[in-house]
Amino acid sequence: MSYTKLELEPLFSKIEELKPQFITRLANAVAIPSVSSDEDKRPQVVAMAHFLQKELTNLGFTDIQLKDLGTQPPPTVNKELQLPPIVLARHGNDPLKKTVLIYGHYDVQPALLEDGWNTEPFKLVHNEAKDILYGRGSTDDKGPVMGWLNVVEAHNALGWELPVNLVCCFEGMEESGSLGLDELVAREAQQYFKGVDTVCISDNYWLGTSKPVLTYGLRGCNYYQLTVSGPGADLHSGIFGGIVAEPMTDLVKVMSQLVDSQGKILIPGVYDMVAPLTEKEDGLYDNIDFSVEELEAACGSKTGLHDNKKDILKHRWRYPSLSLHGIEGAFSGAGAKTVIPAKVVGKFSIRTVPDIDSGKLDKLVFDHVNKLLKELGSPNTGKIELIHDGNYWLADPFNDLFGAAAKATEDVWGVKPDFTREGGSIPITLTFEKELKTSVLLLPMGRGDDGAHSINEKLDVLNYINGCKTLGGYLHYYGKQ
Ligand SMILES: [Zn+2]
Repeated sequence: MSYTKLELEPLFSKIEELKPQFITRLANAVAIPSVSSDEDKRPQVVAMAHFLQKELTNLGFTDIQLKDLGTQPPPTVNKELQLPPIVLARHGNDPLKKTVLIYGHYDVQPALLEDGWNTEPFKLVHNEAKDILYGRGSTDDKGPVMGWLNVVEAHNALGWELPVNLVCCFEGMEESGSLGLDELVAREAQQYFKGVDTVCISDNYWLGTSKPVLTYGLRGCNYYQLTVSGPGADLHSGIFGGIVAEPMTDLVKVMSQLVDSQGKILIPGVYDMVAPLTEKEDGLYDNIDFSVEELEAACGSKTGLHDNKKDILKHRWRYPSLSLHGIEGAFSGAGAKTVIPAKVVGKFSIRTVPDIDSGKLDKLVFDHVNKLLKELGSPNTGKIELIHDGNYWLADPFNDLFGAAAKATEDVWGVKPDFTREGGSIPITLTFEKELKTSVLLLPMGRGDDGAHSINEKLDVLNYINGCKTLGGYLHYYGKQ
């Protein structure tokens, strides 16, 4: 890739110079235990929204609004529990500039020292020897959210104008299903978000630990349950074994015919919907910094189904997979209970990819399962249902957003980024694309080993500071197009 390099050195040096302040800002954010899943901590989540409001005000953002989302839908202990607000703010309103919406979340996963943390989770600890910042939310997602604020602070300090208009959308329920967010985005599409040209989300991670990435795809997920019921109550196998049709036997028989041990989905027609692999896409996998060893380290075993990098990544990112998750109602404790469960519910899901049509997939699943149930000739009743679904997302990694982000990455890190997808979902990506009718870029800050939802969550100082430079650089390259 050849490109005109922008003169961003002053911005990058200013960001380096402000490093101590930026670490303090993140420390102040981490100190607020904004755990969205814990009802008792809801005031802290709200306090985090007020913290942002204050920071945004000091940095010169305008039209700052804390959008009330009403009470949290059941189940909740406190029936009056208020959802935390979504924080909206603008910086600049120049019709000659492009407008970038930046999304992040200010809530975090729960964390207790007793869980196995080496340091207090809600105190940002700078391990100077390793130059790593430890603390809940450091990488997910307070680091990136503070990153955007830092970019503005650096511009202010330089007396530079931002190259684009910014619109912030920071939510406080991301770790708890983003309640209220879809509705807000739909409501504000033609109001607060009117005129937004593109969306940038910094809420995912590098694939590995050494090479920056830009993410252009996510798999979707259709989750199903199959209920098989027979007897009116659980029975004893000493009395009823051999003389009643057992629901568990039927369920296992059907579930065993959904996927084989090589990971191949056995439901006819699913693979026919998968987009063919083009040569151009295939080429994207060649240089990606990933190895079979990394997979083995991540899963803690040598039980992978593929023996080379490209196949592993393709099967994680661009092919569907079916996983059997569990059986509700089955005996699952230790020991040797001789129960015949009366009703069992098998749970499984399919990770979806382009061009699988969600509705058509449901029909294929239902038809296959119903055919298998019929073939059993069992007097038990079986019922297959969809519990929830979320579509896949795919952007064009060769478009101008990704081009701008790639240039910024190369300026900062000195390497071209890998273009990656993820095997999981970030539903808000699709919501923005659909409601604002615009393209979305996923621009991660942290590394693959940051432990986002786990103990000892961390963010390397290098990623934090270079991440700020990359976010800022992206705005400049995108603004110049
Ligand atoms: Zn997150």
